[in-house]
Amino acid sequence: MKGSSHTMIGVTVGAMAGFQVQPDLLNIAVGSFVGGVSALVPDLDTNGLATNRITLSKKITQWLMQLVGAGILVAIVYQFFNAGFSPAILLYGGIGLLFFIVSRFITQRRMLTLTGVMVMWLGIVMQQSIGILLMGSYIVIASFLPHRSYTHSLPGLAFYAFILNQLQQDWQVDGLLLAGIAGYASHLIADMKLLPMNRRGVKWFAPIWNKEW
Ligand SMILES: [Zn+2]
Repeated sequence: MKGSSHTMIGVTVGAMAGFQVQPDLLNIAVGSFVGGVSALVPDLDTNGLATNRITLSKKITQWLMQLVGAGILVAIVYQFFNAGFSPAILLYGGIGLLFFIVSRFITQRRMLTLTGVMVMWLGIVMQQSIGILLMGSYIVIASFLPHRSYTHSLPGLAFYAFILNQLQQDWQVDGLLLAGIAGYASHLIADMKLLPMNRRGVKWFAPIWNKEW
């Protein structure tokens, strides 16, 4: 299934989850955003070059890269206004720049690995979020997994839910957990073999039982 279809389903179930948490516009908006993004997360295990079935993965990677780049920039500006100029600012600026240059040469999967490492690093630098640190580790792990393995399973969903729960506590955003689980689960259900367009199914119970559903 294409990334755009996953997003559409994720936005829908996310909005429903947001409404469930609290029936107002803000919660529905947050829910649909979180649901839409979460519905793309399982396909972080996709090599954009090897598959033609998922078209969005390259865009996701680029989007993540820009997000990390922006994060570095914010961290540098924050550092500058708090502590003034220091050699560390040049160093981090250089790392950020190197990140963009290197991304033009390496494979998409290693680019994703690097992105995950940078997200983890941001989690440490910003000193505020175990959730961001865990999210980075998810990206690193996903970048080494074969397509439709652990990210497309109940253990993958459980790990993602654990991250969401942490982020919900870090950021105090109600509905993050429920909308995220709904979006992620909707992706796995939409990838199942019971839908005629899916040649491969989902190994819900990997690694214990590798049957594709
Ligand atoms: Zn998938």
